Amino acid sequence: MTNRMFAYIGHKGGIVEDSATELLAAAKAIDAVGSPTAIVTGWGPDFDVVCESLRASFPEIWKITHPSLAYANAELVRQVLVRVLPPQSILFVSHDHFGIDLSPGLSVKLNAAFASDVLAIEGVEGGSVKLVRQEFGGQVNARIRCDISSGAVINIRPGAFKIAAGPSASGTVVDKSAAVGALAARRRYLETIVAETGDVDITKHNVLISVGRGIQEKDNIAIAEELAESLGAAVSCSRPVVDAKWMEKSRQVGSSGKTVRPKVYIACGISGAFQHLAGIKGSPLLIAINKNPKAPIFQVADVGIVDDILEFLPELTNRVREARGMVVK
Ligand SMILES: Cc1cc2nc3c(=O)[nH]c(=O)nc-3n(C[C@H](O)[C@H](O)[C@H](O)COP(=O)(O)OP(=O)(O)OC[C@H]3O[C@@H](n4cnc5c(N)ncnc54)[C@H](O)[C@@H]3O)c2cc1C
Repeated sequence: MTNRMFAYIGHKGGIVEDSATELLAAAKAIDAVGSPTAIVTGWGPDFDVVCESLRASFPEIWKITHPSLAYANAELVRQVLVRVLPPQSILFVSHDHFGIDLSPGLSVKLNAAFASDVLAIEGVEGGSVKLVRQEFGGQVNARIRCDISSGAVINIRPGAFKIAAGPSASGTVVDKSAAVGALAARRRYLETIVAETGDVDITKHNVLISVGRGIQEKDNIAIAEELAESLGAAVSCSRPVVDAKWMEKSRQVGSSGKTVRPKVYIACGISGAFQHLAGIKGSPLLIAINKNPKAPIFQVADVGIVDDILEFLPELTNRVREARGMVVK
């Protein structure tokens, strides 16, 4: 394969996004020995920290710094990438909000192929890369061939790729800013509005009891609250629970809710839709309780329990209380 591989790396507040290692793993699925070059855009002291921290995972980091890149603006990043990427590049981008904004237009400008929301890569064959993506809201796995003769932009689903070993590179940071020149955009950064944390900040808890539609009605959430209390945990939820107004939006985990990084995540009556799983980061111990043995969440759970949560949760609460010498109700 003659195409050179790149990964566009997102970051916030001086911290590289988890997707960086996922993009690395995706590139390894195409070429097990090669590594992509990281491309990162930004400005200021935090940005220098980001470039430095990427040295542990990538052999080469292309740093592009400019005052107008201080805030993520897909229009400007697109201009940057069009100017620095060599012909026939394969660029991996996370399929997050920014990647969805950036990539389709970028592939047009590069005259490259585009594949979105890719969850598996099955290698290269005859000038094409074989990809798996889902269609019909995740009900169908589609195997597609993406022609890479003119390069490709491949958006990788968050959480779909995991790197086997820890980072091992000792990379070099190459400043490519001079190659970029003047940048101009019709979009302008105005302000950052931080979402309200609500009464409980689910992003700060080590143990989350997360309830889904399987909880069936608002009053039943009390059984999850009781388990949470016995474990010193917090209760989070899936989107249908918020849509039904059983819990506040600030408790929702997922692509349109919060991103959480607990040590233990207990999913109760949650089917395991990718929009929900996208909000669970940091590889916690994932325990799933679901009465349907074929629920997709069992494919990703570390511990799977097939049972009715309305019976199982109160029983578990009693056992935890007993073990901790608390009063069993
Ligand atoms: C653009 C977009 C963004 C989205 N963002 C999010 C998001 O941020 N977060 C999110 O969660 N979803 C999100 N969704 C919705 C997502 O696609 C799923 O519809 C949702 O996650 C399903 O929630 P659920 O698992 O609670 O419900 P369901 O899929 O209905 O699953 C309920 C599960 O409960 C089980 N069950 C039922 N009764 C019991 C019982 N008594 N005991 C044990 N198990 C039981 C069932 O077997 C089933 O598996 C988004 C969708 C779109 C299109």
